[in-house]
Amino acid sequence: VAALVASLVVVFAPHGTAAVAHRGTPAGGGLTIGVLLPDTHTPRWTRSDKPLIEQRIRQLCRTCTVRYANASGDVAIQQSQVNSMIANGVRALILAPVESRALAPSVRQARQSGVPVVSYDRLADGPLSAYSGYDSVAIGRLQAQGLLASLGHGARQPRIVMMNGEPTDPNAKALRKGALSVFQGKARIVASYNTTGWIPQNAFTNTLAAVAKLGPHGFDGVYSANDGLATGIVTALKAEDVRPQPPVTGQDADLAAVRRVVGGEQAVTVHKSFSAEADAAAGMAVALARGTSIDAIAKQRISNGTDKDIPAYLGTPVAVNRSNVKQTIVDAGVYTVQQICTPT
Ligand code: BGC
Repeated sequence: VAALVASLVVVFAPHGTAAVAHRGTPAGGGLTIGVLLPDTHTPRWTRSDKPLIEQRIRQLCRTCTVRYANASGDVAIQQSQVNSMIANGVRALILAPVESRALAPSVRQARQSGVPVVSYDRLADGPLSAYSGYDSVAIGRLQAQGLLASLGHGARQPRIVMMNGEPTDPNAKALRKGALSVFQGKARIVASYNTTGWIPQNAFTNTLAAVAKLGPHGFDGVYSANDGLATGIVTALKAEDVRPQPPVTGQDADLAAVRRVVGGEQAVTVHKSFSAEADAAAGMAVALARGTSIDAIAKQRISNGTDKDIPAYLGTPVAVNRSNVKQTIVDAGVYTVQQICTPT
């Protein structure tokens, strides 16, 4: 550990600083904004998105109140959370749906009640007023490119196990699509799993199944759709004593994953700036609640099938690997060197 910390001090010097933007804080008038996030087992929602969205809403509107609800991965709970927020008079909703199709009736209900919905990170079905998030096909491509880069150019095509996310999440489908477009003709998919509910424990179980099916040397890399799944995968590979550990991908720049990237246990994660995403969602929700324009934030358009022309903020995802972690994470103010290097 001491040697690793010492090498990191060199890698990371000089210390990066976080730039915090303070924009205008126009006075608001007693509006309530609802924030609905999908689960508690993926660190980003509770650790990053919730505080960042709340903070930005307060910056933009001192008199606004935030009502927060987390559905713990349960569709029925989220449907009733939406209904109760509408009944309680929220003026706008920021919604990361547990399942996009299942939440469509709730989105329609909001529209009928005059409550604009900003879909957050996951694109909900139904009549949306705006979307804040990322292009998950592009993220899938970055993950697959990172995995292939870490595998180098051998004589034969690398054999990949795919650990996809929850299939009812449109992001999971888009990630897989982007990854497959890169693997096409360059790698062989030897096993592919969906991970119900994006639950790390399910990725752990799927990895044990992959090792049992293929043998410990029957695959060269593991495509993991996010960092939570990567935690389950790496734990399973250790439990099965698969050595050397094949490279694994991820997404979200969870602190645990950034530590694994630095320590060589994860080849790549993808950083989607949560503050940019949260700022855009909060800005659009406050504007919609006030009945003002979101054009300055929503510069793009996206389609969810029902609605072909949803105003959107789309951030730029960044691949994080061992050689660029200082620029992409430390200098960008995501985590400090100390946070990354503190042993758990
Ligand atoms: C998000 C990921 C997240 C995953 C699990 C996806 O829709 O895009 O950032 O890791 O859900 O919650």
